[in-house]
Amino acid sequence: MLKSYNLFILDDDPQYAELLQDIAMDSGWQVEHSTDPIAFLAQEISDNTILVLDLILPNIDGIEVIRALAERGRHYPLILISGFDKKVLHSARQLAEAHNMPVIDTLTKPFDIGSFIALLDNIQLSEQQQKKPKRANVEFSKQALSDAIEHHELLLHYQPQINLSTGEVSSIEALVRWHHPSYGLVYPDKFIHLIERFNLINELTSGVLKMACSDLREFKKKHSLMRLSVNVTSENIVSLVFPEMLKTITDQNGINPCNITLELTESAVMGELTSSLDVLNRLRMKGFKLSIDDFGTGYSSLQQLFQAPFTELKIDRAFTSKMLVDKEAMVIVKICIMLGKMLNMKTLAEGVESAEILEELKRLGCDYAQGYYISKPMSFLAFSDWMSVKKHSCQ
Ligand code: C2E
Ligand code: CA
Ligand code: CA
Repeated sequence: MLKSYNLFILDDDPQYAELLQDIAMDSGWQVEHSTDPIAFLAQEISDNTILVLDLILPNIDGIEVIRALAERGRHYPLILISGFDKKVLHSARQLAEAHNMPVIDTLTKPFDIGSFIALLDNIQLSEQQQKKPKRANVEFSKQALSDAIEHHELLLHYQPQINLSTGEVSSIEALVRWHHPSYGLVYPDKFIHLIERFNLINELTSGVLKMACSDLREFKKKHSLMRLSVNVTSENIVSLVFPEMLKTITDQNGINPCNITLELTESAVMGELTSSLDVLNRLRMKGFKLSIDDFGTGYSSLQQLFQAPFTELKIDRAFTSKMLVDKEAMVIVKICIMLGKMLNMKTLAEGVESAEILEELKRLGCDYAQGYYISKPMSFLAFSDWMSVKKHSCQ
């Protein structure tokens, strides 16, 4: 058992919640429980918590709880419980994993006590989960974040995206990190949501684009690399000055906006569709490309997809990474590729973790791929070296 972890049970049935709590305590766990998801979301809970989540809850259901936790940067490992059939549990598992929340196991109600005890006794988080560098577990203040932006403590790592028909690097995605004076490298899941909450997102995005454009100039000289993707959020695209702000930065760096792709998640766009369509269309008119990120995990309808001027559809890693072992994931990948073709959008699969997945995507006609099998995100220097080695090995 992982003694360093506590258990939190969220189930609307008080008797059930108490029963599970008693069983877990008997197995030696420290346990808390709640029957109210709204109160749970407002509560301070340690990062070292495994959440036992009933998918059927009052007011806000388990799926919404998963989304809300992800938005708050709280990525607890999960044990999912549902009275529904296995399909609901399967979909909830996919959604959770798409949001970087590992699912330890799923249980269909009613289950016998023995299987819950066995599950608790056998919990083993993946090696990656346990070895993952200890990330800062603090809520950063607005001042700390605005100082970080102003004092240039943010830096970028780059992850290559390859063209599946040529094998060449077609673009790179810029991923922000914070080199914190006390905590070391802090990853975006710990601070992007706070930057949004404190209304600092335009400062962050313009800082990221400035660094990325200046690095792209170097990569262009050394490796003839022309293209770059940056992530933008819903708060960015409701700001009417946003297109002009980005265009000024690309102009100052002598970069043509058609070489910059802005990646936006589905939910970011669909939440604010009417107001964001104005900004999205103006960005396109200035030449920027637009990619719909984490596709398949949000709520977009086909009609909404038609309305927004996207040029690329980025298939979420939850589907790509499992497409060879999970029939439903494979169907979703195929539909995304088909949809991309029908809507005249390029398709990019993220989360490519093996040669077999890469080959299958090629066979299915996907345009681009990105993922650990090709390379993890790297610092400016590491990426530059990687490109040089790649060039030589191709000669
Ligand atoms: P994202 O845009 O979906 O970025 C991809 C994330 O998946 C990155 O995590 C990357 O390291 C990881 N990844 C890449 N390939 C694989 C793979 O094969 N397998 C697995 N399991 N993971 C892979 P990272 O860098 O921690 O970024 C997390 C999220 O933070 C990003 O998700 C993006 O939403 C956000 N983010 C990063 N940089 C920025 C930024 O400059 N601005 C904004 N607004 N958001 C950012
Ligand atoms: Ca992205
Ligand atoms: Ca993504």
